[in-house]
Amino acid sequence: MSLSTPAVSMPEFVLPLSHEAFLRANRVIPGGVNSPARAFGAVGGEPPFITKAEGPYLYDLDGHQYLDYIGSWGPMILGHGRPEVKRALAEAVETGTSYGAPTLREVEIAELVAQVVPSIEKVRFVSSGTEAAMSAARLARGATGRPKLIKMIGCYHGHVDALLVQAGSAATTLGTPNSPGVTQGAVADTILCPFNSIEAVREIFAAYPGEIAALLMEPIAGNMGLVPPRPGYLEALREITEREGTLLMFDEVMTGFRVALGGAQELYGVTPDLTALGKIIGGGLPAAAYGARAEIMDHVSPVGPVYQAGTLAGNPLATAAGLTTLRLLRDENPYPKLEALSARLEEGLHRAASDAKVPHVVQRVGSMLTLFFHDGPVYDYDDAKRSDLKLFARFFWEMMARGVYLPCSQFEAMFVSAAHTEADIDFTIRAAEEAFKAIRG
Ligand SMILES: *Cc1c(COP(=O)(O)O)cnc(C)c1O
Repeated sequence: MSLSTPAVSMPEFVLPLSHEAFLRANRVIPGGVNSPARAFGAVGGEPPFITKAEGPYLYDLDGHQYLDYIGSWGPMILGHGRPEVKRALAEAVETGTSYGAPTLREVEIAELVAQVVPSIEKVRFVSSGTEAAMSAARLARGATGRPKLIKMIGCYHGHVDALLVQAGSAATTLGTPNSPGVTQGAVADTILCPFNSIEAVREIFAAYPGEIAALLMEPIAGNMGLVPPRPGYLEALREITEREGTLLMFDEVMTGFRVALGGAQELYGVTPDLTALGKIIGGGLPAAAYGARAEIMDHVSPVGPVYQAGTLAGNPLATAAGLTTLRLLRDENPYPKLEALSARLEEGLHRAASDAKVPHVVQRVGSMLTLFFHDGPVYDYDDAKRSDLKLFARFFWEMMARGVYLPCSQFEAMFVSAAHTEADIDFTIRAAEEAFKAIRG
């Protein structure tokens, strides 16, 4: 998800109150954050502490306003504080915040998900994307009776032990754990494969005939920066996995309801066997899900023997925010607007970087995009790693200082929301032009 980066010093952008909060936080929370992506480790410096979010904006303790391009790392596709979502939450609070018993709203959101996501007939709700990917992988193994998983290098599926793997020396190989605490045993059945290479997938199937339960992937990689599938890639994987009796799992935790209402599977017309969802599905509250055809999902407990459970799964507040968000997306269809705004941003960033003679490429699918400081297209993680991370860090802080909050790592996607306006996009482009001028000095 993020690489260690050369240390860069934070520019004269000072956040005294956030700094104090960060010192305090560090005394009681490891690194002062509850998720490492928030720690600004990849850009050097310290994160502003957020006090409020409204529409396309974030506000910090030190009184700054930022145009928000992380959207809570994906969920806030409608922007912050949509009145309908707030109202649904307020109403839900009045009737109780958790029961540990079934509710009608869980049925309504499941029905809606099954209607709009092509691969899904039945769906099980969980509380995080990590859980969704972990449970889907278990289901794939349970349903096929096979042990092995293919994981694409540079794709992220949460901090699931079996999926915290890094590449060894050869390109297509069994990986090694990439976190202490993950045993060799936990990753022994995970096979790593470079993204966008059909050849590598063929080699793996040839090496492990009849052993591979599932091929897991982000259909559009968003966790190495935005890397789209090459034309024909998803179609080829669909065909190969079907022939091999391997389940194709799209992790659409980021792309689901983002690149189209039905996710990447709708956008590209390629239907996986299993789908993991998260982020937008909770409308800013903790919810995620995994789904498939009924025949596959009926392997899950209590119908089938594959165990999976959750005390807060299908939580009344999370389903209220999620259901309202999904209904708004269905009824308002913001996708053409998101496409237009994001295309404008892509062009503007490209122009700004070109004018400053900065080697770069902007990659985009719908409202997800990454400005890579890389000379030429990024097809996989090896390409992404060759980006100029120091330049990224400089650019990031120059943008912060101009009121634009970008993801604090080259290996993340920016998200445009339906609350952004053309004026916001133009403000961002002007900020980028100035940022490059300051950097080129
Ligand atoms: C964010 C993300 C996850 C993990 O979701 P959490 O809710 O953070 O556990 C899994 N897969 C993908 C593709 C993601 O982008």
